[in-house]
Amino acid sequence: MHKLKLKHSFYDLNFSDLDLIIKQNNFNTSVTSLLFNWHYKKKNTTQCIDNIAKPAIKFFESNFDFSLPELDTVHQSTHDRTVKFLFKLTDQHKVETVLIPFHNKYSICLSSQVGCAMNCSFCFTGKQGLHRNLLTSEIVGQFIQAWRWLATNRPGEERILNIVFMGQGEPLHNFDAVKKACEIFLSKHGASIGVQKITISTAGYLPGLKRWSEEIPGVNLALSLHSPYEEKRNELIPINKKYPLPEVLSYIDKIPLQKKQFVTYEYILIKDLNDSTDDANKLGELLVGKSAYINLIPFNAFPGSDYKQPDSNTIEKFKTILDTYKIPTLIRTAKGDDVLAACGQLNSKQTL
Ligand code: SAH
Repeated sequence: MHKLKLKHSFYDLNFSDLDLIIKQNNFNTSVTSLLFNWHYKKKNTTQCIDNIAKPAIKFFESNFDFSLPELDTVHQSTHDRTVKFLFKLTDQHKVETVLIPFHNKYSICLSSQVGCAMNCSFCFTGKQGLHRNLLTSEIVGQFIQAWRWLATNRPGEERILNIVFMGQGEPLHNFDAVKKACEIFLSKHGASIGVQKITISTAGYLPGLKRWSEEIPGVNLALSLHSPYEEKRNELIPINKKYPLPEVLSYIDKIPLQKKQFVTYEYILIKDLNDSTDDANKLGELLVGKSAYINLIPFNAFPGSDYKQPDSNTIEKFKTILDTYKIPTLIRTAKGDDVLAACGQLNSKQTL
């Protein structure tokens, strides 16, 4: 039996939603920023009582739910400082979140859906199908819980400076909840994450891209490209048939970028499928002249997958060709692969 959630979650409210509630109930307007500070800056999960009048405390106590996704399991990599969390939601579904170390800080890789509808042939999450969208509170909750875990287990290291929507799900397929979560992360009264520290990765879901410039300006975009050829991309990313790459790219070209801002193009390298010199040249021709940054991701295997990772020579050669087009290219080394926390290895039905 799953618990029915009768109250609205406090963590579903962005600053203006909360402000409206405060005003409608005639509470002191400073309560909005006090609450945001308490929950998102200090990451407290208890009721905020500092400087807040009793009736306001009582109101929030009786009308809002302050619970967060429950920590089910934690896997810590022995290769590096990657941590993978499995969270249990109120309806018993599970999602994963990964903390990826860089220098003395972390990036957090958030999930946006339970499963995914995109069904990409190389992705473990896609094999699960889509169960449901996550709520804003379940997205924001992953961040707060991971931060709190760091504060307890690696005190002094609770510094999550980058947020990437590269976990389970297609974030643009759950646009409203992801947008609201971004608004909460960005709020100066709360976590105050810089807009360029947030990256949303998409398989090319055009309806979401069309809302980008108006609704989430300044947030970084990553496109999972994986092949410049239509046939191959159709095979790898089935929604390419509905929203073909040329259409997606021309839309991306229209998104205004800030100074020094790039669009990241992710390219999984799969042995004998998209790793030839011809593929590299075609990719270079497609992206040359754009404000592009390429992330080459050697395919990460998962149970039951037929694809293989190319050898390191092939990977290096692919990069060398892209260098001739003067496109900054990074080979992304897998982190946390010993705990199935690397890209495409997230599948909350089959964890360790
Ligand atoms: N749905 C979004 C975000 C989730 S996937 C998207 O498609 O972009 C995040 C990144 O991991 C994407 O670039 C995705 O293509 C990549 N990925 C998925 N499975 C992978 C695998 N098995 N090996 C390496 N990268 C993978």
